[in-house]
Amino acid sequence: MSGATRVLVLNSGSSSVKYQLIDMDGEERLAAGAVERIGEPGGTADHAQALREAADELKARGLGLDSPELAAVGHRVVHGGTRFTVPTLVTDEVLAGIEDLVPLAPLHNPANIAGIRVARDLRPDLPQVAVFDTAFHATIPEAAARYAVDTATADRYGIRRYGFHGTSHAYVSRATAALLGRDPADVNVIVLHLGNGASASAVRGGVCVDTSMGLTPLEGLVMGTRSGDLDPAVVLHLERVGGMSTGEIDELLNRKSGLLGLCGDNDMREIGRRMAEGDKAARLAFDVYIHRLRRYVGAFTAVLGRVDAITFTAGVGENSAAVREAALSDLHNLGVTMDSVRNAVRGAAARLVSADSSRVAVAVVPTDEELEIARDTYALAVQSD
Ligand code: AMP
Repeated sequence: MSGATRVLVLNSGSSSVKYQLIDMDGEERLAAGAVERIGEPGGTADHAQALREAADELKARGLGLDSPELAAVGHRVVHGGTRFTVPTLVTDEVLAGIEDLVPLAPLHNPANIAGIRVARDLRPDLPQVAVFDTAFHATIPEAAARYAVDTATADRYGIRRYGFHGTSHAYVSRATAALLGRDPADVNVIVLHLGNGASASAVRGGVCVDTSMGLTPLEGLVMGTRSGDLDPAVVLHLERVGGMSTGEIDELLNRKSGLLGLCGDNDMREIGRRMAEGDKAARLAFDVYIHRLRRYVGAFTAVLGRVDAITFTAGVGENSAAVREAALSDLHNLGVTMDSVRNAVRGAAARLVSADSSRVAVAVVPTDEELEIARDTYALAVQSD
């Protein structure tokens, strides 16, 4: 084995490439950045160009991708379907497999594939590892993963609950056990990943047993711009009565709904400001968001039976004391007692915000998807050499 200990993590989205260079010897972040506005007028032409820009930026900082210290590249890939349930070394066959899943993730997987191809061209000698956003949820039992639709139809079209944000749920559930000073195998956690996208998961002894996102990231919680759960007949109604096309409904539910659809803002900070001024639409958006969240807390409490911790993470979860307080207030019957003073304290570290008397610990754990991807990549590409 060489002494190479650095991992480049790439998160290639439809219009951006985010990157981090992490030295796994001490898990030190050497560099982080993003190239945005890919494919937009005046922006970066394509993913190849974006990665070259990222490489130039790293080189200017003495961290060029030609360095012998670079051990591997880890890629976030959104959809692994039922085929990819663990981090996977990229081969031509694996790339073709990710390509096959494009119909399930038409916006995300093509961008992820582009990122992998460009990184391979740049350093063909390096192991490239695909880390799937769906993988952590592959353990969900059939009873939770199946939709109650005709089985043959479902199987034919790959219709089942896959779940997303898995890298975050994996990292945060494990970090929660560490915060409690317990073995992940002994801890049951409800993880609430509340960012612009939002999802909940139920993790029993380190194994995911349920999650709120489904076939796509549209299901579940109210999000910044996505509706989350709704009666599927809403789609039919919009088609039949509203005369809307598939594309228009897709746009409505994924980009113009959620908090944005309810009040015109998708940023929880702005909603907080408006609520303080007595804005009714902002108040309603907040209330709908919280109501859905509490429903999932109740549902996943029943799924797990025993809950040791409820953990908040991502932009809203880590920063909004108001959301945490509203989501878990008056749940003493479920064993949850918040400590308002602890909850109001801002901080960057993993911390408890429940009262010492609370049977269920309530935690705030900053997520770190890049570090999780780097760990998975390093473990597969280097440590298992
Ligand atoms: P993420 O997708 O995890 O980056 O989260 C982005 C979201 O976090 C933004 O849309 C904001 O609504 C939310 N956010 C960030 N900072 C704060 C804050 N201080 N208070 C409330 N919400 C915040």
